[in-house]
Amino acid sequence: MAGESLIPPTEKRESTMSVLTPTLTLEQETNPWEAQAARFDFAARKLNLDQGIWKVLRQPTRELIVHIPVGMDNGSIEVFTGYRVQHSVARGPAKGGIRYSPDVSLDEVRALASWMTWKCAVVNIPFGGAKGGVICDPKKMSQGELERMTRRYTAELIEFLGPEKDVPAPDMGTDEQTMAWIMDTYSMHMRQTVTAVVTGKPVNIGGSRGRREATGRGISVVCDEALKQLGMSIEGCRVIIQGFGNVGSNAAKLLAEKGYTIIGIAEYDGGLYNQNGINIPALIEHRKLAGTITGFKEAEAADKEELLTCACDILIPAATENVITSRNADRLRCKILCEGANGPTTTIADDILADKKVFIIPDILANAGGVTTSYFEWVQDRMGYFWTEAEVNQRLDSIMTESFNDVILYAKTHSVNNRIAAYMLAIDRVAYTTKQRGIYA
Ligand code: GLU
Repeated sequence: MAGESLIPPTEKRESTMSVLTPTLTLEQETNPWEAQAARFDFAARKLNLDQGIWKVLRQPTRELIVHIPVGMDNGSIEVFTGYRVQHSVARGPAKGGIRYSPDVSLDEVRALASWMTWKCAVVNIPFGGAKGGVICDPKKMSQGELERMTRRYTAELIEFLGPEKDVPAPDMGTDEQTMAWIMDTYSMHMRQTVTAVVTGKPVNIGGSRGRREATGRGISVVCDEALKQLGMSIEGCRVIIQGFGNVGSNAAKLLAEKGYTIIGIAEYDGGLYNQNGINIPALIEHRKLAGTITGFKEAEAADKEELLTCACDILIPAATENVITSRNADRLRCKILCEGANGPTTTIADDILADKKVFIIPDILANAGGVTTSYFEWVQDRMGYFWTEAEVNQRLDSIMTESFNDVILYAKTHSVNNRIAAYMLAIDRVAYTTKQRGIYA
């Protein structure tokens, strides 16, 4: 393998789409690793990135695959496949969530790991990037099964995790309880309590105040900033959100509190629309009781796919990858696309949205509020001194505002779109550190 070039041909390309051929099947278009790599290559080329550093940053540093035996409630043994990919540790310990979903794949975890590297660099916090995932359906598993699976997954990865090595956090399908089990398992192996090994923990065992709402809060801050940029006002600003999990529901709640009008919510099992604004606290209450957003009386039922193409000022995909593709991008009718999810927009859709002059707040900026407050949690755990919620929120707001403005300025200075600006800013920071540290031989 030595000397094999990982760099694609270097002809000039002005659109990320043309990195991929326009005749892609939907499956090729929606491969998250290819999507990440296309943006990385494009931004690296614009930066005139050193060829050696390009090769280093294009691949993850370490990819771990584990097959986890779990005793199920019915007495049988099931084996689950899990991954942990550490993309970069140049700027600090690897950092990123763990996802439990039937759709997890190595390519997806790879892409998500590298997005964590770029995300942490965009908001300038001292972490590299990682992601984990286990192929399973947490909705069909009992708490006991989830606990045993989580503990065994942690045990299999034990020497690769640690406050100074790799610090997991929640992602789709995992929550504060999952993080508590990881913290406990790691601590049992270390023979001491090590709270800083994971973030997103319950507050009473070293979690940070404000962490649960942090991604949604960060989204609300960048939306405020985008409105300022575009000379729009919060009053009358119509928002549609896809996904009502931790990210979507907290974004909806905080935006509504700020005076935005949430006209639509799309979930996996149905959607809601009310042009006068959905009462978000009432909807959260309804979901608590009914277990679903559907059937909420104060809004009309709406098709979850059609909601994405309804006229609105801000569209926030806050669920999963590949929601905006070549199949629907030309029908979007939003002015701002704020990416609460990781990788919701394909590269082909990017170019279509650029033609439509949609203002994009890219995922590695828009949803960075979560990992930023994870950073605060890690700092507080290591200090053993905990901040008030107001302190956490104020620090988060200022990092999100500053990072938004850094990206916009970068885009203007280099005449690139916001996404490529965010990648360039991030790659530049990681490349600088990689060069400074040098290559260990
Ligand atoms: N899973 C979240 C993300 O994708 C949070 C990661 C973290 O806090 O480390 O950004």
